[in-house]
Amino acid sequence: MYLPLQDDEKLPRTAFTAKGGAELGLSELSGAQSADVLVIGGGIGGCSAALHAAEAGSKVILLEAHKIGWGASGRNGGHVAPATKHDPDEIIARYGTAAGQRLIDAAEEAPKVVADLIARHEIDCEFSVPGIVSAAHTPTALSSMAKRVDYWASRGRPVEMLDRRQAAATIGSDYYLGAWLDRRGAKLNPLAYVRGLASAAIKAGATLYENTKALNLTKRTGKWVVKTPQGEVRADTVFLCTNAYTDNLWPGLRQTIVSVRAFQFMTRPLRDNVLKTILPGGQPMTDSRRLLSGIRLHSDGRLQFGGQGPAFGPQGEPAWRPTLGRLQKIFPQLGEIEPDFWWTGFMAMNSDNSWHIHELSSGLLAMLGCNGRGVALATIYGRELARYAHGAPASDFVLPPTPPRRIFAHSMVEPFVSGLIQYYAFRDAVEIRRLERTNPVTS
Ligand SMILES: Cc1cc2nc3c(=O)[nH]c(=O)nc-3n(C[C@H](O)[C@H](O)[C@H](O)COP(=O)(O)OP(=O)(O)OC[C@H]3O[C@@H](n4cnc5c(N)ncnc54)[C@H](O)[C@@H]3O)c2cc1C
Repeated sequence: MYLPLQDDEKLPRTAFTAKGGAELGLSELSGAQSADVLVIGGGIGGCSAALHAAEAGSKVILLEAHKIGWGASGRNGGHVAPATKHDPDEIIARYGTAAGQRLIDAAEEAPKVVADLIARHEIDCEFSVPGIVSAAHTPTALSSMAKRVDYWASRGRPVEMLDRRQAAATIGSDYYLGAWLDRRGAKLNPLAYVRGLASAAIKAGATLYENTKALNLTKRTGKWVVKTPQGEVRADTVFLCTNAYTDNLWPGLRQTIVSVRAFQFMTRPLRDNVLKTILPGGQPMTDSRRLLSGIRLHSDGRLQFGGQGPAFGPQGEPAWRPTLGRLQKIFPQLGEIEPDFWWTGFMAMNSDNSWHIHELSSGLLAMLGCNGRGVALATIYGRELARYAHGAPASDFVLPPTPPRRIFAHSMVEPFVSGLIQYYAFRDAVEIRRLERTNPVTS
């Protein structure tokens, strides 16, 4: 049975809360309002859509059920990658040469779009471009990274393959077989970023409401009408930017994704002598394991890392042993790890591991399917939605709208995905055992 999503009503303490800027303190919607564009969901996607639509001259209203950034946008790792999850040749095979290339180019441009927005709207969100490191735990992963590096290096992009010794120096760990460094990758404080986008949207003329859940969506006399607990909005165009937190506002939309809970952990500040040995170049990193494992350092010396825990149902206790054990193996210099706090957020997963924009009806679009990658992509897809509202032809879209596709037997999906996660954990463990049997680098 697919339970309703549950999470703290309040945004939990995250790595980003302290420096995330002040809450916006926006009011709830009451009474009847009208707009050209109504955005539902105040994450990066919704705030980007609201900002770009308002800048293009639309009268924009945005409704957020909780606080701006309350969803995945205020809880994520803040890694800003210049690519989707797929290799360029896979993208071309899937979308064709022209559309595929548009997507590759747009994803590559996305961190620059983020950087430009941050500069133009003076968003204080600890943005920097140290590059991103992806480390390989198997020879197969290493060779697929080498292919990716060849693709980009042959186009003159600042990417490089790191052999085992170079990877050890860059990461501060001789655990991996090698890695690649993509110098276009960036990092930021995602809560400060989404709040900054929301403030910029307000300055551009949009009206944003917090603690205002859209309860019902219908079309009446040519306008979309959205009911909220204390009011309603009539609009020509509606964007559903609710991603993993999608509810039953539009029949069947929620069944196109599986919302999977992801766990994030934060250590206490590390001792100086340990701190300087870990990711000394300041890059955030991931590795090639199937279960996500982002790692990054913060300016106060804390280490943030992804880990395991119950993927569905109410927020349960994290799986401490495998999570801490994994980190200790990568960075034995940490010694006894002292986690300070942890939090969770939902990712919208689907079978093709891709974002989708769906045209659900005339003037009604949804964007969802972050699959754990959305700081930069939600920014550009939000901009795409705004272009739609201003009449850009569908053929111009980076991600052309597609009909929504329900996941087969969606109500049975939780046990299936839980089983899949266990299988992935098993495969990862087998491969890791093999990796640990190979000789570590001797420095
Ligand atoms: C733990 C975690 C780590 C991640 N790490 C990274 C990373 O390092 N890099 C990266 O690129 N991506 C990462 N991601 C993915 C990234 O966070 C998401 O892709 C991105 O934030 C999605 O933004 P969004 O605006 O689409 O959705 P969200 O930020 O989830 O916003 C959806 C909003 O809709 C609101 N809502 C839902 N229903 C209604 C309703 N009926 N009425 C009004 N409002 C409603 C919700 O309250 C929510 O605030 C991570 C995700 C998680 C969960």
